[in-house]
Amino acid sequence: MKIIAVHAYTVRNQTAVPYVWRKGLPGSDEFTEQTWLRLVTDAGIEGWSCAVRGPIALDLIERRLKPMLLGKNPLLKEQLWHEVWEIDRLEEFPIYMMGVVDAALWDITAKAANLPVYQLLGGYRDSIEAYASTVTYATTEEFLDVADQCLARGFKAIKLHAWGDARKDAALCQALRQHVGPDIALMYDGSAGFDPYESLYLGRALEEADYLWYEEPMREFSINAYKRLCEQLDIPVLAAETSDGCHYNVADFIAQGAADMVRTSWFYKGGITGALRVAHLADSFQLSAEVHGMGVENIHLCLAIRNNHYYETLVMGNPVVFEKRIGPDAHVRAPDAPGMGHDVELKTLEKVAVARI
Ligand SMILES: [Mg+2]
Repeated sequence: MKIIAVHAYTVRNQTAVPYVWRKGLPGSDEFTEQTWLRLVTDAGIEGWSCAVRGPIALDLIERRLKPMLLGKNPLLKEQLWHEVWEIDRLEEFPIYMMGVVDAALWDITAKAANLPVYQLLGGYRDSIEAYASTVTYATTEEFLDVADQCLARGFKAIKLHAWGDARKDAALCQALRQHVGPDIALMYDGSAGFDPYESLYLGRALEEADYLWYEEPMREFSINAYKRLCEQLDIPVLAAETSDGCHYNVADFIAQGAADMVRTSWFYKGGITGALRVAHLADSFQLSAEVHGMGVENIHLCLAIRNNHYYETLVMGNPVVFEKRIGPDAHVRAPDAPGMGHDVELKTLEKVAVARI
C-alpha cells in the first residue's frame, strides 16, 4: 500500500459553549479551529486525523509532513513515527502535532484489518466509565450545583479544574467531598498553577478529603520538584501530561519517583503509537497510565489500555452540557465502524473549509 495524496482542511466554528479555565489562563477562544488531515492510498483506503489547530497545523502538514508521507507505505507506522521525531528535532513541532500523522495511519491500518482501532490494539474492554472533568466555575456554590447535575446524569467520578488559588481550591475540594459523600471518586487537576509550597499545602488538603489523585500541580519542567512532592505526600500524584518527549521523558518521571501515576494521550504523547508506549512503560512498573482528554482516539486508547481506569469528559456551561457520546450510565463506547470512526464527511469539509492543501 502507498500514500498517493495528502490533503488537509481547516474549519472554523464559533465556540458553542464558552468557558473559563482557571484564573490567569485564557479560557475558550471565540472560534474553534481544526485541521483535518486526509491521507489517500492506492488501495482506496483513506486515513483521517484531526489536528486541533488552524493555520499552524496546515503549515506544518504542507511544509514538513506531506513531503515525508508521499509514496510511503502507511502500514509502516513505526518507521513513520520515528521520521516525525527526526523532523521534530529541526522543526520543534508543537507537542499536539506529534501524533496527527500516526493517528491517521492507525485509521488506515484498522480499516485494512476491518476492525475498530481498539480491537486492533489488543482490546481490553468494550466500554469504560467516564469522569466529569469540570471547567472553572465562578463560586463554590456553582461547582456544587454542577456536581449535582453530573451525579443526576449518572456520573460517579468528578474532577475539578478550579481557580488556581491554593487556599480557595483546597476549601472547594473539601466542600465538594462534604457535599457528595464518601462514595463518589473525586480528583483534582492543578493545571500547573502552583509552586512547590502551594502544591504541598493543596496536596495535604486533598489527602484529608480522600481524593483519588492529585494531577499536575506544577509545570512539568522540574522532575526534582515532582520527586520532592511525591515523597512528601501519600495521595497519588499524577504527572507527565504535557511534558515533551513521550516515553523517553515519562521513563525519567517514573525512575526518579516523580510520579505515582502518569498521563498518556494521543494528543500529547505522539499519537496512538506513543500513547501505547507510555502505557506499557507504566504497566511494567505496575503504575497506571491515565488517558488524558476527550475524543474518539482517546476512547480507543481507554478501551485498549488495561492500566487506565476512566475516560475524561469535559463538562461545561450551566446548565451543564455533556458530551453526546456519554451513555446514561456515564459509560462510553467506541464507534463500531472499522478504523478510528471519525464523524467526518469530505463533501461537507470541501464546502466549509476556510483553508486547505
Ligand atoms: Mg490534566
